[in-house]
Amino acid sequence: MRAFIVGRFQPFHKGHLEVIKEILKTNRSLIIGIGSAQYSHTLKDPFTAGERHLMISTSLEREKIFDFYLVPIEDVNSNPLWVAHVESLTPKFNRVYSNNPLVKRLFTEKGYEVNSLELINRSNWSGTRIREKMLRDDSWKADVPDAVRDIIEEIDGVRRIRDLSKTDEE
Ligand code: ATP
Ligand code: MG
Repeated sequence: MRAFIVGRFQPFHKGHLEVIKEILKTNRSLIIGIGSAQYSHTLKDPFTAGERHLMISTSLEREKIFDFYLVPIEDVNSNPLWVAHVESLTPKFNRVYSNNPLVKRLFTEKGYEVNSLELINRSNWSGTRIREKMLRDDSWKADVPDAVRDIIEEIDGVRRIRDLSKTDEE
């Protein structure tokens, strides 16, 4: 079976890594969609699709995981068209994994088998939480794979997020 998962991966964290390992126990390969690919340099979406691609591929390769395909997916801003948009960009897949209710609904309506994932250590392993920690200068490095920590340091990602939170108003 070829499976599909989609996320914004802002950033890719240990919860994502654990979920991917779990999916690959029962599926031959996994297509990983990098959602909202056109966005970067905002507080919600600080990292570019290319930076996220590098975070995911480096983390998985260091874990000796190679049976994945990374596909950047820009938003289409039309929910009824979204599944067809995904299909137009990816290899064929039979199974979808998601905890996002809208993603689950849209794929179910198109006849896909949709599976939910166990939420793992969600109080720490959450993109929103990790971005908040970066902004507040709390420790975040234990929540992401070492490869992601290295890439964020290399691109000065924490300073990027802090700069994005500033304004030019008094
Ligand atoms: P954000 O807070 O920015 O939405 P996120 O941690 O939810 O970030 P996404 O990129 O939105 O990350 O998630 C992609 C997929 O991974 C979603 O289906 C999400 O529910 C799932 N996921 C994220 N974190 C975990 C976790 N700790 N355990 C299990 N599944 C997770
Ligand atoms: Mg999310």
